Amino acid sequence: MKERLQQLQQDALSALQQAANLSMLQDVRVKILGKKGLLTEVMKGMRDLSTEQRPVIGALINNLKDRFEKTFVARQVELQQRDIAARLASEKIDVTLPGRKMASGSLHPVTLVTNEVVEIFSRLGFAVAEGPEIEEDFYNFEALNIPKDHPARDMQDTFYISDDRVLRTHTSPVQIRTMLKNNPPIRIIAPGTVYRRDSDITHSPMFHQIEGFLVDDQVTFGDLKGVLTHFLNEFFGKGHSVRFRPSFFPFTEPSAEVDIECVICGGKGCRVCGKTGWLEILGCGMIDPEVFKSVNYDVEKYSGFAFGMGLERIAMLKYGVNDLRLFFDNDLRFLKQF
Ligand SMILES: [Zn+2]
Repeated sequence: MKERLQQLQQDALSALQQAANLSMLQDVRVKILGKKGLLTEVMKGMRDLSTEQRPVIGALINNLKDRFEKTFVARQVELQQRDIAARLASEKIDVTLPGRKMASGSLHPVTLVTNEVVEIFSRLGFAVAEGPEIEEDFYNFEALNIPKDHPARDMQDTFYISDDRVLRTHTSPVQIRTMLKNNPPIRIIAPGTVYRRDSDITHSPMFHQIEGFLVDDQVTFGDLKGVLTHFLNEFFGKGHSVRFRPSFFPFTEPSAEVDIECVICGGKGCRVCGKTGWLEILGCGMIDPEVFKSVNYDVEKYSGFAFGMGLERIAMLKYGVNDLRLFFDNDLRFLKQF
């Protein structure tokens, strides 16, 4: 029995030393001193001992318990301190570490182009105006000389919300809204989103236009040509020829479409310009007197010009993008290039 006790003491103390954490330490205690523990088991043999042996073994058992407790407490303190040290190390904040950099985004190419166009016209004294995207028939059509059964309504595949509400098909209603509120002289540039029932490689049901117009006394077609030629030189760079072709719009008379010498091939003819050497950039004209009548301007006194262009189109030409849909896919690989 003496040997068993000595062996148990040795095993118990070494188990305490090996316990790797507080819960393992507690397990060792239960295994040795618990009700069904190893020491309890050995002590059952006490009743078979002689009277002389009992005090000797009793002293050994007390000694074992005593040493076990002392080792247990010492080991417990050691493990607790180790845990605290580990937490301190892991939760420490190093204030000298440099901060993490935020990933910075970039502006969408349509926004970049819009900003640039607005800036060019701002330098000419144009101010920015905006209007609602859900527009009344009056502003989108009627006041722009496009009455209800006018064939020009077919030119624009309109999204109707109700009989007299539409998603605006162009930014031109901003002209009407501005002129109803202000008297000439007026110089306005109006970028915005417009909607048409159209979707393929070069059309999107939602796209961006920018509208510009100027009203004053004695405004001529020469002023229109001067302003637009200046704009195209600023935007695409000097040295590209510009031409004005007669065209038709219900709200301008006379009307023209403006082409620029192809910025890709320099006028030799390529796939982008359809071998013509020219790129259609915008539509324009002198504001029709009928439009002035609908906003109660004196048609004898005032004249003005207006123009509009698709922002995706000029962004495609400026950045060499060949599919309109790329602007709306939100593919980061595409957007990060700008
Ligand atoms: Zn070309």
